[in-house]
Amino acid sequence: MNKIETNQQTSPIKEDILRIIPLSGLGEVGRNMMLMEYKGLILIIDMGFKMPDDGSFGIDYIIPDISYLRGKEKNILGAIFTHGHYDHIGAIPYIQPKIGNPILYASPLAKGIILKRQENFPNQAKLKVEEIKDSKSFSLGPFKITPFRQNHNIPENLGFFIKTPVGNIVHTSDFKFDQSPINDLPTDFKKLEEMGNKGVLFLMSDSTGAENEGHSLSEKTIFENLEEIFKQAKGRIIASTFASHLNRIQQIIALSEKYKRKVIVDGLSMKDNIEIARRLKYIKTEKQTMVRPNQIPKLPDKMITFCCTGAQGEKRATLMKIATKEYRFLKLKRGDTIIFSSSVVPGNERNVQALKDEFYRQGATVYHSQMMDIHASGHGHQEELKQMIKLMHPKFFMPIHGQYSMLVKHSELAQGQGVPKKNIVVAENGDIINLRKNKIYLEKNKVQIGSIMIGKLGLSEVDKVVLEDRQALAQDGIFVIIAIVDSKTNKVKGSPDIISRGFVYLKESKNLLRETRKRTINTINRMANSSEPINWDYIKNEVKRELSEFLFRKTERRPILLPVIIQV
Ligand SMILES: [Zn+2]
Ligand SMILES: [Zn+2]
Repeated sequence: MNKIETNQQTSPIKEDILRIIPLSGLGEVGRNMMLMEYKGLILIIDMGFKMPDDGSFGIDYIIPDISYLRGKEKNILGAIFTHGHYDHIGAIPYIQPKIGNPILYASPLAKGIILKRQENFPNQAKLKVEEIKDSKSFSLGPFKITPFRQNHNIPENLGFFIKTPVGNIVHTSDFKFDQSPINDLPTDFKKLEEMGNKGVLFLMSDSTGAENEGHSLSEKTIFENLEEIFKQAKGRIIASTFASHLNRIQQIIALSEKYKRKVIVDGLSMKDNIEIARRLKYIKTEKQTMVRPNQIPKLPDKMITFCCTGAQGEKRATLMKIATKEYRFLKLKRGDTIIFSSSVVPGNERNVQALKDEFYRQGATVYHSQMMDIHASGHGHQEELKQMIKLMHPKFFMPIHGQYSMLVKHSELAQGQGVPKKNIVVAENGDIINLRKNKIYLEKNKVQIGSIMIGKLGLSEVDKVVLEDRQALAQDGIFVIIAIVDSKTNKVKGSPDIISRGFVYLKESKNLLRETRKRTINTINRMANSSEPINWDYIKNEVKRELSEFLFRKTERRPILLPVIIQV
């Protein structure tokens, strides 16, 4: 047997194999994080988070599971970042302290956003961030990395051309091809072609737009569509987008100035991002344009553009507060125009729909992505994805960034471009992809992958048990039984009290409750008189076990069960 085939899953490989490990971002949209490992040395690409789907039970973010990196801190060469969107940088404050705070490499804009956000975490060690730029190569261990400019919907978006001992690897970052972008240069096809001609062993390409036919819209076209809305709006314009969607924010400001509107920005992260982009000259505003929210009542309606987050239906964002009339400075009225200027991230559809309905109900004019292409996904559609594969003509191909269906579609596109099926890997989070000069294969083992939840205003991890409790509470309710025990006789006094919420309607469940009380009394009396000394925790657990089984048998539900024993 060939020695190379028998390597141990967790020990560093000595042979000439490059391992690619997507920790997250495959089979989902958001929280992108990928590892490249060569002879035990690890390069990280991106550390993103995502928002939870519906039914998130107090969870703000979901971040990648980095268990695989535990104990390997000193082998981490650094982390390189494609761009400043939160699905690529958002998990930094949660991950950095756990992996030994390695050096981060990011464009000046992404660096600005990373450092600004870090101010919310004053107790953490200072981040070390090195600036990287288009075409400026640098080396980390065995990897020679050349960032290259890619169009998207935020400036300074970088793909990576990585020279490795097994061959050249290209990571596209999020991208679209744009001949008339905003804040950016048009796509440089000649340069991409030159890169492809250097020989690309392995291409990893953004799949977010893989199910969309044709070509994505240019930022210029989106600008024109937005302008149409500005032309028609008679009252206030309320435009919502991602806080990091800097191109869109810039467009909204520019149009406001053109149509003599003042701009009010709500939301700390959006304000911060605008400030950083202004410093780097990606957003230009005239002196008088930006005003504070308390100016709203003093201005005529047609002079107001209100810019905020919440286009994904996020519960705590300003747009939701406006819909539920909880926002102090702006009460919706007939004649207002609402713009949802970002595509809906999978999983958020229901929230966004409910929000839209509410705005229609209150008489606003609503524009969203199905009606007009104002969201312009910053992600290339099928024609662009095909073109990227054609330009790189890689030996091996792996679709990244996207729901599983998108990855599969993208792999089909690659086959259409002549990449043989056996040279394409449709991987999922935690898969270990082994890459050699002439071979690519998945290991049977996967690395440990879970979803780490961040709750309470994004400050702390939520334990899995806590989340499961919340889910159980929501699904099956809670059942508390309180027994008073005479400390002289160790027998239950009287009949235990029952408090139940969201489980069964107490008045209609007399028999069930009678039986529950009986079983509780029997269990306590039996156990308290058969052991010495008495272990009350043990008895409580026994009551819990017994009742849980009984209640499930009778109701097929598993409420949170809390037996309480009080000695008097
Ligand atoms: Zn992005
Ligand atoms: Zn992304």
